[in-house]
Amino acid sequence: MSDVKTIGILGGGQLGRMLSVAASRLGLRCHVYEPGAAPAGEVAWQVTNAPYEDAEALRAFADSVDVITYEFENVPTSALDLLESLRPIRPNRRALAVSQDRLTEKTFLNEIGLATAPFADVPEQADLEPAITRIGRPSILKTRRMGYDGKGQVRIGEGPADWTGAPSVLEGFVDFTAEISVIIARGADGQVAAFDPGLNVHREGILRTTTVPCGLPGKVTTDAVLIAARIANALDYVGVMGVELFVTPQGLIVNEIAPRVHNSGHWTQAGCAVDQFEQHIRAVAGLPLGDGRRYADVVMENLIGDDLDRLPGLLKTPDMQVHLYGKGTPRPGRKMGHVNRIIR
Ligand code: ATP
Ligand code: MG
Repeated sequence: MSDVKTIGILGGGQLGRMLSVAASRLGLRCHVYEPGAAPAGEVAWQVTNAPYEDAEALRAFADSVDVITYEFENVPTSALDLLESLRPIRPNRRALAVSQDRLTEKTFLNEIGLATAPFADVPEQADLEPAITRIGRPSILKTRRMGYDGKGQVRIGEGPADWTGAPSVLEGFVDFTAEISVIIARGADGQVAAFDPGLNVHREGILRTTTVPCGLPGKVTTDAVLIAARIANALDYVGVMGVELFVTPQGLIVNEIAPRVHNSGHWTQAGCAVDQFEQHIRAVAGLPLGDGRRYADVVMENLIGDDLDRLPGLLKTPDMQVHLYGKGTPRPGRKMGHVNRIIR
């Protein structure tokens, strides 16, 4: 059915770990490539612990796999260029390039007719004041690259504005009524399957909970799925993608795209026969996709930092699925695991 036996995963965090588990359930092997600590390495078939600049290690990694995917979108271009000359990379380089850079991402989204927050390019600090004049206050200054969990962001209110220290975009503040996300999969044959949109709650820039169903009218959820499908098709995407959206009285606004499995899709582990991790593995391995249907209501909660102290109680709670990532010491803001509570 598919010639893929071994999947290379760039990045060895919890997403890579859960992808590896899903792959092994389908009889496939994963080889994880990670320069730092690799919770995924504990469950993968092989792990290469080497920098992204190590051409020899990259070549050996590529030689040992049939296809390469990633759980982390900030892999350096030079490493990707080398890997791409040796094995297919799924999702493709364009999807990665678009989502690595907030300016490219927003420009692409507008080009395919989707709404984003108003934005301005701020290459250096001297460009900030004119950008604020154009976009207005309140607004959010975000580094173009490498941001995650709200890092690299400066909120701009009435006072003087701080600088992020790197080329940035200034985004107008969106007065949203809710944040939702769509986890969508697209196969190599163009088949698309979406999971139900989830309602996301953030605290201090970090996702705390995702709830399905999201409680919004069918028109909103259908529009959200259609937006995600439009993005996946425009990128000729293969794999699972997360699309974060703001719900506003004027309609849906795309916040950002993650070209990978996404934290707000963890609920699928308890709510669907084929979860987002298996779905991604199926897509990149060229297997048929699951249908994405949801058979339970679920609340996913991230276990961050010393939330782990609640573990004894969580383990005793009925209908509670506990996932731990095998990371070392809890630190404030560090994602240590998550729970999926099934609501009957
Ligand atoms: P993550 O890794 O969680 O996706 P990130 O670092 O990529 O985060 P964003 O998704 O851009 O950051 O922003 C994090 C959160 O900050 C958003 O989910 C939202 O709650 C808030 N936020 C970001 N941009 C805006 C905006 N333009 N207007 C209002 N709120 C915003
Ligand atoms: Mg985000």
